[in-house]
Amino acid sequence: MSTNASEFERAQRVLVGGVNSAVRAFRAVGGTPRFIARAEGAYMWDVEGRRYIDYLGSWGPMIVGQSHPKVIEAVTRAARDGLSYGAPNVMETELAERICGIFPHVERVRFTSSGTEAAMSALRLARGFTGRDAIVKFEGCYHGTADSLLVKAGSGALAFGTPSSAGVPADLARHTLVAQYNDLASVEALFAEHGGRIACVMVEPMPGNMNLIVPKPGFLEGLRELCTRHGALLIFDEVMSGFRVALGGAQELVGITPDLSAFGKVIGGGMPVGAIGGPAKVMEMMAPLGTVYQAGTLSGNPIAMAAGIATIDLIREPGFFERLGERCSRLVAGLNDAAREAGVAFCARHRGGMAGLYMLPQPPASFAEVQRQDVDRFKRFYHLMLDAGVYLPPSPVEAFFFSSAHSDADIDATIAAARDALKAVA
Ligand SMILES: *Cc1c(COP(=O)(O)O)cnc(C)c1O
Repeated sequence: MSTNASEFERAQRVLVGGVNSAVRAFRAVGGTPRFIARAEGAYMWDVEGRRYIDYLGSWGPMIVGQSHPKVIEAVTRAARDGLSYGAPNVMETELAERICGIFPHVERVRFTSSGTEAAMSALRLARGFTGRDAIVKFEGCYHGTADSLLVKAGSGALAFGTPSSAGVPADLARHTLVAQYNDLASVEALFAEHGGRIACVMVEPMPGNMNLIVPKPGFLEGLRELCTRHGALLIFDEVMSGFRVALGGAQELVGITPDLSAFGKVIGGGMPVGAIGGPAKVMEMMAPLGTVYQAGTLSGNPIAMAAGIATIDLIREPGFFERLGERCSRLVAGLNDAAREAGVAFCARHRGGMAGLYMLPQPPASFAEVQRQDVDRFKRFYHLMLDAGVYLPPSPVEAFFFSSAHSDADIDATIAAARDALKAVA
């Protein structure tokens, strides 16, 4: 019989670490990854037939739940007409029209097959548009695996970045300047020293890759002002937060307009899609109209576009985000009550359908504060929740994801499991 353990052993003989994306290997929590056989609505089932309430949601895309009938129908219909053409199809225009309608600054869209490609191409576009090489990113923000973005702070506040992965040339990393999220002074210092060389500031406006972090009042406003003053482009990486914290992403919540936005996750509804969007005058620097090269064999393929269109049409229904937010609030309040009852330094919060839980007495505001979590306690909590049938992202530095498929009963079951787990780790 197939078990998670037997499948993990088998996988490790042919897949590096048994997985195709590092965090799936459960290294941050220990134990055996669950091999998923099937998912529907708010649930996933592993190969042993055990059911989990799904707060992973494929790391964000599944905002209407797994296997939503309308999404499956759209994908099935599209599949009958062919999987990929490598020539234009009308669904590309239809998904782009929706994105332009939702994000006021987006006049042109270019689709890719992943968020990584979207962020990478946005960088190249910003460099091509400004004719500058340096970029600013933030410690703890994740933008996929492009070389220029796998960079962490070097030593000393003004030092150039150093590669955070082997294989990234130090010569490339020195063009990446690393600042601290929610610390405007750290960005001002970089502009004071290197202003004329900076092509763009790339930021997760509401980070979800150092767990959920919320921008302090004035921080994103300050980035907007610095970029405008120095002729650099402000790029919001909304791959995770777009169509997730609000229909119009973090930029809708904070009321700040970037020069370029990167999208992914929800816009593919579970299929591989990324996108860059922005004003025509910047976007039209890209091939075939401009000199910045960008292309992709499967970009805009009909199956991915169909899944994206069906998902966007479900979430742009009036009241969708209000309902999603209210229900997620109820879950978060229940988790916070459970922590108080158990007397554990634990808390939770959310924005729209994106949430964070922290082994800390107060929600963190910075990467440094996120690092102060009790990791050992998180590991024990994680496995108690998993044993109780609740699947959270297997890392203390990741956000978790709520969907419209989560029922009141699912919320209650999750809170009950957390109450027991928190008491056990107190
Ligand atoms: C997931 C993510 C990416 C990378 O997207 P992939 O589709 O995994 O390549 C980029 N930026 C952010 C903010 C993300 O959350």
